[in-house]
Order: sequence, then C-alpha cells, then structure tokens
Amino acid sequence: MADKQQTVVLLKPDALQRDLLGQIVTRFERKGLKIVAMKLIRLSEEMLEEHYSHLSDKPFFASLKQFMMQTPVVGMVFEGYDAIAEVRKIVGSTNPREADAGTIRADFSMTVPSNLIHASDAPETAADEIKRFFTEEEIFDYEKITDRYIFGEGV
Ligand code: UDP
Ligand code: MG
Repeated sequence: MADKQQTVVLLKPDALQRDLLGQIVTRFERKGLKIVAMKLIRLSEEMLEEHYSHLSDKPFFASLKQFMMQTPVVGMVFEGYDAIAEVRKIVGSTNPREADAGTIRADFSMTVPSNLIHASDAPETAADEIKRFFTEEEIFDYEKITDRYIFGEGV
C-alpha cells in the first residue's frame, strides 16, 4: 500500500501577477492530487524567516522576502500517494532552465527568483509548513466520487 501524504504548495506573487494560478492548479488536479486546503495568505517577514531559514545567510535573502510579500500568495495543501515527491516532480527543479520540460517551472518560467511556486521537499518540512501556514480547521477531510478511480487499491 502506497503512503498517502499531505504537502504544502505556495503559488508565489509572480504566478498571481501573471494570471497563471488556474493553469498551475490544473496540473495538480489532473494528476489526481486532492485539494484539502486553499486560501490567500499575506506572508509576514517572520513567517518567511522561518520558512526560508535555510537561506538566511544568502545574499538574495532580503530580496526573496520582499518578493514573497509583494502580493498575497495562494497557499494549498494537496493530498495523495507519495504527494510530497509527486508534487515536487510536477513543480520541477529550482532553476526553471534546468527543470524538465513538462514541469510547471520549465513550462512557465525562466529565472530562479521568479520560479512561480513553492512545494515542501520532505515529510518533516511538509509537517512544519502545514503548521506554519494552516490551522487544523482549514484542512479538510472529504470524499470525492472519483476517489476510487484515482486512489484505487493504492498500488
Ligand atoms: N532562490 C533565489 N535565488 C537562489 C536560490 C533560491 O531567489 O539562488 C529562491 C527561489 O525562489 C527558490 C527559493 O529561494 O524557489 C527557495 O530555495 P530552495 O533552494 O529551497 O528551492 P525550492 O525548494 O524552491 O526548489
Ligand atoms: Mg525549498
């Protein structure tokens, strides 16, 4: 039985400004990933310092934080088998010009700072990010009529 996981996606200000939100969400929907949370979030500097703490000594840290505060971001939680790795696969590499064709970053973007989207990279970061950006009430458990076609026996 495969492992059902939840993972966080943030659609960054460049995705919102470029009217790509719908096209990006479609990529996850068509895979069968279930949307279990979705909202606009106005990120604070404090949230970003935690979220990007692994980059705090980088020269681009201040501009990254500023960029992420330019507009609200769309925060989502997706659920599915191996969702953390599957979402990262659909998102593509951090550098859009090294990302595989067919991934969101390769297909819609050209530079690292404007790579449109964040996705959790491991079970520990996914758990931290769910707590950082969502309350328990904002994460939904519900059945879809397509569940048995998409999730089947979980192989
Ligand atoms: N970033 C940047 N310049 C860099 C490296 C990263 O602006 O040289 C930004 C970019 O938006 C990236 C984010 O910092 O998506 C987080 O970096 P990370 O290495 O965690 O990549 P990701 O997990 O987003 O692929
Ligand atoms: Mg990362």
